[in-house]
Amino acid sequence: MSKTKLDGIGVGNLLNNIPIPAFIINTQHVITHWNVSLEIASGLSSRDVVGTQDHWRPFYRNKRPTMADLIVAGVNIAELDQFYAAKYQPSDVLPGAFMAEDFFPDVGKGGEWLSFTASPIKDASGIIIGAIETLVVISDRKNAEFELTEREQRYRELSQVDDLTQLYNARHFYNELEHEFERSRRYKQPLSLCMLDLDFFKGVNDSFGHPFGDQVLRKLGFLIQSHLRSVDSAYRYGGEEFVIIMPQVEINDAFTAVERLRLELSEVDFRTRSGQVVNVSLSAGLAQAEESDSKESLVARADTALYQAKGSGRNRTCF
Ligand code: GH3
Ligand code: MG
Ligand code: MG
Repeated sequence: MSKTKLDGIGVGNLLNNIPIPAFIINTQHVITHWNVSLEIASGLSSRDVVGTQDHWRPFYRNKRPTMADLIVAGVNIAELDQFYAAKYQPSDVLPGAFMAEDFFPDVGKGGEWLSFTASPIKDASGIIIGAIETLVVISDRKNAEFELTEREQRYRELSQVDDLTQLYNARHFYNELEHEFERSRRYKQPLSLCMLDLDFFKGVNDSFGHPFGDQVLRKLGFLIQSHLRSVDSAYRYGGEEFVIIMPQVEINDAFTAVERLRLELSEVDFRTRSGQVVNVSLSAGLAQAEESDSKESLVARADTALYQAKGSGRNRTCF
């Protein structure tokens, strides 16, 4: 190829024409180049930093290695892990180069997200003689990503969690029951199911109003939640009907736990707007999965037990 005016153009000149902040250090970790974009981004002029080891300054409060330092020192995965944890990855185009994204709390006003790359610079015989690092602020993109994730999370919760009681909703119950049912089969562990229903709740609403009824439901949601073990999950099955999936527990122990919940609810003094004290109770039915059960038959047996509890005077747990 014939010579052009670009041949022999200096590295500094070249770097200054790239609109991405970049610097180069040699194997003594001394800055050799600091381009115009980085001067603007960091507020440090190349005159002041070239010849020093101050390339960490715009990014960190205290001196520490940048990715370029790790590269000229001969990349060492343990060090990369120490300084960049799970935030870096090898470049898939340039061997020996790395890319990373990280939050820099000391950059800008409240910190910035930076995307950065560092690559070795080698001589003709392949020996590393320096490293170039580039840095781009990506806070806007990162924040948009976080907002999206948050919105997705909120959406997921909206479709799984009942607003009034903060327990899972009925739709989620069927997914989870399937899951737990299979699991108990596979690991041959017990699985108990509890259905509960507030007693005479229509009367409570009729006498004290719907908002008062809502207050009771909220409180019951809270009580149930506070009685759950980490493996249990609770669902609002219908208006004032709830169901609890209790994996890894035999029906006798499940009974003890549900009785504790029932007693606790019966001892709560609810207050109406006029100051009247009202007590409510619940009835519960329990069933434990058997060899021959399907999900449906397990639910049906817990439901039958609940029906028995209602029929034999309410405010009790049957199985
Ligand atoms: P039982 O002891 O036989 O269960 O009697 P009950 O009155 O509780 O039974 P029923 O199923 O007839 O009534 C349930 C009542 O629950 C009817 C409805 O007014 C009330 N309810 C259902 N959902 C809500 C809700 O979201 N908020 C309020 N406040 N009440 C609800
Ligand atoms: Mg009821
Ligand atoms: Mg009911």
